[in-house]
Amino acid sequence: MSQFNAPHFQSHEAAREYLEGLRWGAERVCPHCGTVNESFLTKKPGVYRCRVKECRKDFSVTTKSVMESSHIKLHVWLQAFFLMASSKKGISSHQLHRALGITYKSAWFLTHRIREAMRAGGLLPPMGGGGKAVEVDETFYVRLEGTPKKGRYAWANKNVVLTLVERGGGARSFHIDGARAGEILPIIRANLSREAKLMTDEMYSYKYIAEKASTTTRSTTPRTNTSAMKAKT
Ligand SMILES: [Zn+2]
Repeated sequence: MSQFNAPHFQSHEAAREYLEGLRWGAERVCPHCGTVNESFLTKKPGVYRCRVKECRKDFSVTTKSVMESSHIKLHVWLQAFFLMASSKKGISSHQLHRALGITYKSAWFLTHRIREAMRAGGLLPPMGGGGKAVEVDETFYVRLEGTPKKGRYAWANKNVVLTLVERGGGARSFHIDGARAGEILPIIRANLSREAKLMTDEMYSYKYIAEKASTTTRSTTPRTNTSAMKAKT
């Protein structure tokens, strides 16, 4: 891919130097205490140590960033940033997994960390604190290119947007590959407070999720505005 010809897309070391230039330029700042130009390179490449007596902590260009404590090489991070920032429609974990030749697990991790970083407001507190209700809903849209029209499930071969809505609060949306419990559960765990009251529809995967998500209420009640609810009353 020609767009990845730049050295910082090719090797971990070049990517690190590129990021150091972006983050610090000529003035390296200790991310722990904020002191400028008072650090030295340790024996480990890319790891610096703060000279300030009260600090003396080690850091690298990824400290306190979305890339922190990740084993994924930095040039792969940069490729993922590039693809996700340049794609108009957004990019799924599966697309990233294929485009970058990395495991699906790594791709999933990258897309979630990067989306978190790109969202206005940065890291947000969990939803549903103090026992507030959070509704979980999914929307299917456009069939994935070149896939058959019919599948076993309603979401087969579709892009899925999972939305979490806090009653009387905000909403968060996530692009996922199919409404499987394995896709939804990590998002619920990452975004919902333990006291949150989870409100879902009757989809099988949600029953499973409500049981696994360790929220206090295991509600599988249909949403009050659905025709199913009206039919029962
Ligand atoms: Zn320091």
